[in-house]
Amino acid sequence: MNKQPLKGRRIRLGMVGGGEGAYIGGIHRFAARMDNQYELVAGAFDVDPERGHAFAAQNFVAAERSYKDYQTMIAAESTREDGVDIIAICTPNFTHYPIARACLDAGIDVICEKPLTTTLDDAEALAEVVQRTGRFLGVTYTYSGYPMVMEARSKIEAGLIGKVRTVQVEYPLEWMATGIELKNNQQAAWRVDPKKNGRGGSIGDIGTHAYHLASYVTGLQAESVLADLATFVEGRALDDNAHVLIRYEGGARGMLWSSQVAIGCSNALRLRVFGETGSLMWFQEQPNELLYTSLEGDSQIIKRGRDTLHDLTKARTRTPPGHPEGYIEAFSNLYQGFATILRLRDEKRNFTENTHVIPQIYDGLKGVAFVDAVVDSHEQGSVWMKPKYV
Ligand code: NAD
Repeated sequence: MNKQPLKGRRIRLGMVGGGEGAYIGGIHRFAARMDNQYELVAGAFDVDPERGHAFAAQNFVAAERSYKDYQTMIAAESTREDGVDIIAICTPNFTHYPIARACLDAGIDVICEKPLTTTLDDAEALAEVVQRTGRFLGVTYTYSGYPMVMEARSKIEAGLIGKVRTVQVEYPLEWMATGIELKNNQQAAWRVDPKKNGRGGSIGDIGTHAYHLASYVTGLQAESVLADLATFVEGRALDDNAHVLIRYEGGARGMLWSSQVAIGCSNALRLRVFGETGSLMWFQEQPNELLYTSLEGDSQIIKRGRDTLHDLTKARTRTPPGHPEGYIEAFSNLYQGFATILRLRDEKRNFTENTHVIPQIYDGLKGVAFVDAVVDSHEQGSVWMKPKYV
């Protein structure tokens, strides 16, 4: 079925997962709405079809476009003249591959949650399908959507702190500090199951965000990694704490810590980059500020919303300085970027500087390769391992 051109209309969005009680699907829906670029028209919102239909009704999705499962949705939507343009996959990790594959094979573009897949084989297979079909697959590496993350990236690219020497990135959380997976916590239950989460526990769940953030800001790719994984909560089959040393191409060194058991840390993603002439620091819980320190020792807080910031930073900013923006706006910036890419492709126009920085299939593939190398390193006695894709 030939798709209707995107010009002059909203992008039609379908969703898999994200139903009642789910976490990230709701954030996707906010993000899709913020810039008026999308309309949610279809979904298979829940693994339980009845719950999914009830959720669709509450969210004003037409009953005929609330589907019992993703296969039925893809079959029906790909043959409708007004079918969905893109499907957001907001389900546990092990389902990403079959759902994304089915969408792409049916000619539907994809927004996929991280990690892209639970195995490197699946990630490679998806990359091959994307390349062969020319379809789009965006990956929601949320933190790359923050304006001050973009500012850090552009300042490092412009040489503000000189050649990068060391990168310290940490993503500690506290919510799994006890065995809540045994107490009916929906989100924790699948995250501790290797078949559903993948080989990496905390490293696959949040370490992948930290790794992407560090590479995104510095432009550095890991040459090799050495990992020490630990499981502190009894009975878990996956790590809930990971320490990783990173040797970056070009000689820079990095340290990455991910933890699901760090009491006191709500969402304490923090990045510090030290170069030959200065440093930059960003903390997710204060996302509107970037701390810059020069070799002379002067420190400066660079604030979101100022006219002096990079154009790509300004493009990610909606409100003036002092009116805080945060997580949902960052997520919206990714949705905005996906929309721009789809529209440019539809109109056969060239991609822009702005669209090159939006996480896509290869970022997802690199993320899975990183987790794989980390787990291999740990299992082989904490030896240096080279990720297959950098
Ligand atoms: P969740 O358990 O809260 O929600 C999962 C949803 O998927 C539920 O509604 C469930 O019914 C549904 N589901 C499961 N299998 C399905 C199927 N076959 N068909 C239709 N629906 C199905 O999970 P979550 O915490 O929202 O995580 C979902 C994904 O989002 C994971 O891959 C996770 O890693 C990712 N995530 C990303 C971020 C981010 O910052 N980008 C944050 C949290 C979670």
